[in-house]
Amino acid sequence: MGFSSKLCTGCNESIISRYASNDINDWQIHATFLFESGEFYQGEYLGYWNIFDGDTGAEIRLPIKDYDQKVTCYHTDCYIQAGCPREYTTPSDWAPDQGYFFNLFEGHNTLSPLKRDKLHLEIERK
Ligand SMILES: [Zn+2]
Repeated sequence: MGFSSKLCTGCNESIISRYASNDINDWQIHATFLFESGEFYQGEYLGYWNIFDGDTGAEIRLPIKDYDQKVTCYHTDCYIQAGCPREYTTPSDWAPDQGYFFNLFEGHNTLSPLKRDKLHLEIERK
């Protein structure tokens, strides 16, 4: 399937490849995948539907079998922001930028929702 990715259900930006990230958007390589079959995966997106599991050090091939594969995708920070849903809900759309071909003027230049909340709380406290 070459370069490919899907859009995050939380923020609607693509899950990006580790090899396309920078200091601003490296939170968007950490992704969570909930398959309609009930399978659950979390890790660092390497592209080509492979993830790196930092806990085990293993590379895992996600079970994307064809173009119609139904999977709900999140950036893991967006997943936490959404309350860590345990089940597949709606299929994520394919990402036009394939998680790789983007520039910072077209998105992928925002803070993680978890950091935005933290900043917000810090501002409220002042
Ligand atoms: Zn997201």
